[in-house]
Amino acid sequence: MKVEICPTAGEVARRGAALLAGLLARDRPTVMALPTGRTPVAMYAELAALRKARKVDFSKATVFNLDEVLLPNHHPQTFFQFMTRHVWQPLGVPPERRFIPDGGTADPEGECARYEESIGRAGGFDIAILGIGSDGHVAYNLPRQIAPRTHIVTLDRATIATLDPTIDFEVRAITMGIDTIREARSLILLATGASKAEALRRMRDDPPSQDWPCTFLRGGVEVLVVADKAAAAQL
Ligand code: PGA
Repeated sequence: MKVEICPTAGEVARRGAALLAGLLARDRPTVMALPTGRTPVAMYAELAALRKARKVDFSKATVFNLDEVLLPNHHPQTFFQFMTRHVWQPLGVPPERRFIPDGGTADPEGECARYEESIGRAGGFDIAILGIGSDGHVAYNLPRQIAPRTHIVTLDRATIATLDPTIDFEVRAITMGIDTIREARSLILLATGASKAEALRRMRDDPPSQDWPCTFLRGGVEVLVVADKAAAAQL
């Protein structure tokens, strides 16, 4: 794993945006896996500003979400809503190239298989941009709910609270598997804030463990971690 330490969270966002913009500048179709969450919001805002300045073009990009909660699409906490607001519309991703598991599906198992197939048909990812949970989760590969391919997980209370602390019912989600992710031809993980420091250290130092999903990221292409000083404090 390679680490780049940025002075601030804002710099992490700018660096993430620059890496993605650099790849898109090759002017050929680019297939990417993108995260939701608080960390990437500033990166997407940077990219939207670059697009306004005509410095980045998503018209040939294919965008897959890392995960989606099993709630109807119109629910405010779905990643469908997040992507509409922060990615698809502001970055101009063509509608036919937006891929996200259907959170309202009556057949979640079938949806996992269909999602994995559409990733295969797209030829896999040129790049996957990842966040990390303070418990080491990657996409929604949660502790002890890790699988190689796209699968269903049940969110724990702490993870539900990061979505919306007022949700008081069980929430399941569809997530890419750890192999789905680590087969990407380039892997970038963004981390900001002190709560991510332990997970980053374990990701670098610990043997693979079901308790820390991030430890399974090693073994594919080298992960580039872009972290602010607080997240990198234990590295
Ligand atoms: P966060 O989420 O960016 O909101 O901290 C990270 C994650 O859950 O992957």
